[in-house]
Amino acid sequence: MRKQGAIAGMAVTVVAAMAAAGIFVFAGRGSDAAAQSSLTVNVPPPVNDRIYASPIARGRPIVVIDAGHGGRDPGAISVSGQVREKELTLSLARALRDELVKRGRVRVAMTRDQDDYLTLDDRAAVPRRLNAAMFVSIHVDSAPNPLARGASVYSLSDVASDAEAARLAARENADADRGPRSGTVDSMLADLAMRSQMSASADFATRLVGKAAGRVELRPNPHRFAAFHVLRRADTPAVLFEAGYLSNVDDEVMLREPVARSKMVLALAQAIEADVAARSRR
Ligand code: ZN
Repeated sequence: MRKQGAIAGMAVTVVAAMAAAGIFVFAGRGSDAAAQSSLTVNVPPPVNDRIYASPIARGRPIVVIDAGHGGRDPGAISVSGQVREKELTLSLARALRDELVKRGRVRVAMTRDQDDYLTLDDRAAVPRRLNAAMFVSIHVDSAPNPLARGASVYSLSDVASDAEAARLAARENADADRGPRSGTVDSMLADLAMRSQMSASADFATRLVGKAAGRVELRPNPHRFAAFHVLRRADTPAVLFEAGYLSNVDDEVMLREPVARSKMVLALAQAIEADVAARSRR
C-alpha cells in the first residue's frame, strides 16, 4: 500500500506541476481517466473496525489487538540493525489474531493490519468504538543495558512501579494529547471507572504472567505499572505487552523466530480467553 501511495503521490505532483506551468495535455480519454484515478486513489483509513471471527464466535466479546508503532514511527531498532519494532509488533499481532480466531472464544479487531502510522488516540478509540472487552497493545522493548532481556506486561497506574517503567511510559506517551480536566463531577465519576479499569487490567496482567511463566522468557518482576496514555484512554481492561528486548542479542534471535513467537502468542491467547470468560461470569 505504501508503494501505491507513493506512486499516486508522484502522479499528483506531476499533474500539479503541469497545471502550475499552464500545460494541459489532451492525450485521449484513457490517460485522462488514469490521471483522474491516480488523483482519487484512496489511502485506506488509518484505523479499521473490521472484526475477525470464526462463525462459532458470533456475539462473543471483542478483543482489540494493537500492534505498536508503524508507518513513519519504526519504534526500537534491533541490535543487529536488521529488524524494527513496528514489524515485530505486527507479526505478533497478526499471529495472536489468527490464534484467537482459530480458537473461536472471542472476536478480534486490530488497530492496524499493515504498516500504518496511528496516534495513540487513534488506537485507543478502537476499543471504545467497538465496546471491546479487552485491549492488548504489543511492543518490544529496548534498553541501554545489552543484557536486559525477557518479556514484561504493564498495566495502568498513576504511579510507576519503578524508574524504568516511568521512562518507558514517557517514551510511549510521546505523541499523546493532554489528559482530561480534573476536579469536576464528570472527572470524579471517570476516576471511579478508571479505578475499576486499573484493577481489572492488573488482574489480567497477573493472569498473563501466570500463563507465560515457564514457557516464555520473562523479566524479573514481569508485571509492572505505569501511566500509559493508550491504556488510560482505552476505557476497557488494557495492558501493554513488551515481548522482549531488541537491544539484546538472544531476544532478537528469539523474536525473529516464528516458532518461539508462537509460544508467546499461545500464552497471550489463553490468558485473554480466561480473563474475558472470568469477567463475563461476574
Ligand atoms: Zn514500543
